[in-house]
Amino acid sequence: MNIIFVGPPGAGKGTQAQVISKTFKIPHISTGDMLRNEMESGSELGKKVRDIINSGKLVDDAVMNQIVKERLSKPDTKNGFILDGFPRTLNQAKALDEILSSIGKKLDHVIYVDVPEKVIVERLSARRMCPKCGRNYNMITDPPKEDELCDDCHVPLITRDDDKPETVRNRYKVYLELTKPVIDYYSAKKLLFTVDGTLPVREVEEILIKMIEGKK
Ligand code: AMP
Repeated sequence: MNIIFVGPPGAGKGTQAQVISKTFKIPHISTGDMLRNEMESGSELGKKVRDIINSGKLVDDAVMNQIVKERLSKPDTKNGFILDGFPRTLNQAKALDEILSSIGKKLDHVIYVDVPEKVIVERLSARRMCPKCGRNYNMITDPPKEDELCDDCHVPLITRDDDKPETVRNRYKVYLELTKPVIDYYSAKKLLFTVDGTLPVREVEEILIKMIEGKK
């Protein structure tokens, strides 16, 4: 089962991808998480992408295509994968077609989590992340049990630098300009399944699991 999640930043792609990953036992590949790990490890790539990410811009297509190509050739993707945050440009979508055909795989579903801009800005300003395990919380809709502490790791939650209001607006602009065409691309290929991302998290989960099981 090879799945892609697309949608604006803060639509809940990561949250849903984690659930689908557990339910169907396929790896959740978040390019944002991969880049943040690079930044944390202090690698050359991490140093190169830090300013780009913190300003809300996109990392170069060639760099991203290479990262994804390497990741998808790992053995844990044998029974499927979930890509979250890639492709984000038309160029990346076309590169992914080539990567997949070179390793004899094809896409089963492209899930578009649809959420309007007003809701995105509200959500991202309330988003917090555990610096240890990467789990996301929302202080309004999905707060931790204890004030600002991760339920699993018990460490203080942080606000991602790129969730600051100025950067959020920039990320949304970049999304409209560069990522919207990706959605049209998959829609034309009849691969797109649209889900209303303003519904409660559990409801979105149920809709997606049913859809995937129905077409397995
Ligand atoms: P995310 O966690 O998916 O919102 O990604 C955080 C940031 O990482 C983005 O705002 C981009 O700067 C960068 N990034 C993640 N995935 C990609 C991608 N496919 N192409 C370009 N930049 C990306």
